[in-house]
Amino acid sequence: MAHVITSLCVREGSCAMVCPVECIVPGKPSDLYPWYYIDPDTCIDCDACTPECPSNAIFTADAVPSEYKAKGGEVLSMPKGTPGFSEKYSGKNHDGDPVHLEATRKLAPGEIVDLTPAKKANADYFSEGPGYRAIM
Ligand code: SF4
Repeated sequence: MAHVITSLCVREGSCAMVCPVECIVPGKPSDLYPWYYIDPDTCIDCDACTPECPSNAIFTADAVPSEYKAKGGEVLSMPKGTPGFSEKYSGKNHDGDPVHLEATRKLAPGEIVDLTPAKKANADYFSEGPGYRAIM
């Protein structure tokens, strides 16, 4: 098992600062890989990252919700060009540097979303995608 960063990630990045095994990396390029990603083969499930995330985007793999009920106002981020994700997001990361995401939308109160597709996206990033190259 490992921890998984879901589409609630807005690249704030404090998770990466606390990870004791440095297995969390920001997706690059950010328009195609908008989240931070956790290398599942290196994660030791210490759970240090989960409480650090201001977006509550991180879960253990077996606890990623298939029915996530929004409080309202949470930002979902997806790769640029994803249908229905037409809003740009601007915020700041853990260091106070600007963050811009190209394809987001805000959740309505009570809206139910399935966050489980993030498990495959996270695994793909490290199995064949740029995450694999990033840590080699
Ligand atoms: Fe890193 Fe621990 Fe989070 Fe795994 S659970 S990504 S080892 S901080």
